[in-house]
Amino acid sequence: MTDPLAWIADELASWDAAGLRRRRPLRQSAQQTRCLIDGREVVSFASNDYLALAADPRLAVAVLLNIDFRGWYSGGGPLLGGWGSGASPLLGGWAEPHRCLEERLARFEHAEAALVFSSGFVANASVVAALVGPGDAVFCDAANHASLFDGCRLSRADVRVYPHNDLDRLAELLARGNHRRRLIVTDGLFSMDGDLAPLAALAELARKHGAMLLVDEAHATGVFGASGRGSLEHFGVEDPAIIRIGTLSKALGSLGGFVAGRAELIEYLVGRARGYVFSTAMPAVVAAAGLAALEIVVAEPWLGRLVLQRSERLRQKLHAQGWNVGRSESQIIPLIVGSPSNALALSEALRQRGWYVPAVRPPTVPEDQCRLRISVTLGHLDSTLDELAADLAELDPDGPWRRDC
Ligand SMILES: *Cc1c(COP(=O)(O)O)cnc(C)c1O
Repeated sequence: MTDPLAWIADELASWDAAGLRRRRPLRQSAQQTRCLIDGREVVSFASNDYLALAADPRLAVAVLLNIDFRGWYSGGGPLLGGWGSGASPLLGGWAEPHRCLEERLARFEHAEAALVFSSGFVANASVVAALVGPGDAVFCDAANHASLFDGCRLSRADVRVYPHNDLDRLAELLARGNHRRRLIVTDGLFSMDGDLAPLAALAELARKHGAMLLVDEAHATGVFGASGRGSLEHFGVEDPAIIRIGTLSKALGSLGGFVAGRAELIEYLVGRARGYVFSTAMPAVVAAAGLAALEIVVAEPWLGRLVLQRSERLRQKLHAQGWNVGRSESQIIPLIVGSPSNALALSEALRQRGWYVPAVRPPTVPEDQCRLRISVTLGHLDSTLDELAADLAELDPDGPWRRDC
């Protein structure tokens, strides 16, 4: 009898041959700039913890208070005690800390309402699938996050992928077809290139064609905009009809996704977003940690600007050294080096020098666009970034990792 799972070993062998096998580095310390990973102390550029909140004691205290005590604490969050939430939000899993977080998020976003999901991935996939269906069309930037693509597929709407930030092509696609509802979905800040979507023009295009617009602010929340609301605030595009998705898992250092927008939209999603209806609510203490992080961003809105200033300085240095930093204009700085083996070789050379800068390979980026992804956080001082740049200057951009470019 043949083993029905035998194909998996073949598949893994082909990954090995192409340098595409994924292995997980084991972190043996808190998620901080200086990290113990696989037994080695490194300075990490791998996390999306842009405001260095993941290991901030204020979040840990919010969690501990919620587990151990009952009553209200001065941060304004409710305390319930206990860990698990035990049920879908529709069946008793939704608790005071969730409600409080949603209210605070809505106020932060200048939106009528907000809804918290167990992750940003689930929020994206379920919201897109809830907004359009058969007979509708969804327009998706080619560089969008995997969760938006999955939402498009789950929706069973006609999916029209437009080349990255290509508004002429998008306008052409929008002018065609007689779909019932139309939805444009885009990352605000693109996760692998670190560039922004042209949101003012996108909003205008959506208005002109009567299409809905959904912007995923996952990497921009807490970093972009004068008060940290993200790329829409950065560009001054504040149309309340725009559907905003964010995550509590990146700059906010906790876990969870959210959508913010009109009150009716949120009411609709409560009944229709399958990842909300059919999934257990996050533990209330996780919501409390998100709330604590949000209060920090509200109280210290300049933190994001600081990260962007440091990133700008590093990016200019690397560009001057001859590295291909692509279209980056944010705290996400790619070093594009070509093939998977190029990216792995450069990542290893940096690891030898005490830097952890992970290689990004297919399926996350195209085969010839492999890169190192430098993610700058508040934990990186200018002096640390200067040291990284100095080491990269010694690792010639046209070195062995460029062999097949
Ligand atoms: C990380 C990410 C998500 C998913 O958020 P999680 O909270 O980590 O699940 C969604 N969209 C984009 C653009 C992301 O980079």
